[in-house]
Amino acid sequence: MPIITGRDEVLAVYAEAARRGWVIPCLCSENLTTTEAILTAAEDFARDTGYTRIPVCLAITNQYDHRSQSVYYTHTRRWDIGLALFRASIEILAPVFPAVDILIHLDHAQYDHDAGLLAGDLGAYSSVMFDASALPLEENIRLTRAFVEQRGGELLIEGACDEIVDATGEQRCEITDADKCERYVRETGVDLVVANLGTEHRASGQDLHYHDEAARAIRERIGPRICLHGTSSVSQDQLGRLFEDGICKVNIWTALERDSAPALTCWTVKNVARCAGPATEQRLIDEGCLTPASRTGAAASLEHFTTTARQEIIFREMKRIARSYLDLWYRPA
Ligand SMILES: [Zn+2]
Repeated sequence: MPIITGRDEVLAVYAEAARRGWVIPCLCSENLTTTEAILTAAEDFARDTGYTRIPVCLAITNQYDHRSQSVYYTHTRRWDIGLALFRASIEILAPVFPAVDILIHLDHAQYDHDAGLLAGDLGAYSSVMFDASALPLEENIRLTRAFVEQRGGELLIEGACDEIVDATGEQRCEITDADKCERYVRETGVDLVVANLGTEHRASGQDLHYHDEAARAIRERIGPRICLHGTSSVSQDQLGRLFEDGICKVNIWTALERDSAPALTCWTVKNVARCAGPATEQRLIDEGCLTPASRTGAAASLEHFTTTARQEIIFREMKRIARSYLDLWYRPA
């Protein structure tokens, strides 16, 4: 039921997860459907497995170039409104999910664009990722340390020690070595660290490979305090062994959206007439997008043409995907 905030309380959730050998899924959301799918998956998991309480982390990015999720949380496209709606929706929903210890994470907070947000009231968040990874390492360490000194007493802070190297003219970066990661954690005082382990997070296109040996080398130095981003590129086999690699939290977003889209697409195509009326079905046949054999001539129906109907398909798929991570990482005692 509760939203867990306050540094000591949040640390206690991570300590308990580590004791169980659990990796906490940190699932990003940019709309209410996603938020509810994640919470429902967690509540269902607790009910099905008999746990009275399980943690799940809900996250959102703000003015992050790659994806500004708070902006998408509202059609006003205002991040301040989006963040407020995200937090309010969780606060209102929390009592409906009594078995879920909810952690709220502000992901990829930018040292420059989000400076105002980071200097304000962060009391609603369980943790913040302070992201200065676009800067050279020394500058990143200096700014991250300053943020930890200011706010580290209030909440958990995640830092990113990977460095974007621009040696080839394309943005690219190197796998983080254990020396560098240990130094970054020691000098900044962050609780959790994002390293470049070869996943989709920093790289793009081909050549994606999760370097579990690099993660284990880091674990040897700092313990299970690594936060993994970009899991879409990690093999199923490797996903199951993340805790052994020193990963305590995994930030996920792309898979939720990418892997729920096919279900909605197929459902819409197979129900064109019910979703959009027989005239639209005929037009698509005339345009060659559908075959004449697919004609149903069915009437449009409320069960198909509403926004609610489409959201329900996405909700179910996202719930299934979120559940799959819980099944994978929350091992029975
Ligand atoms: Zn990320």
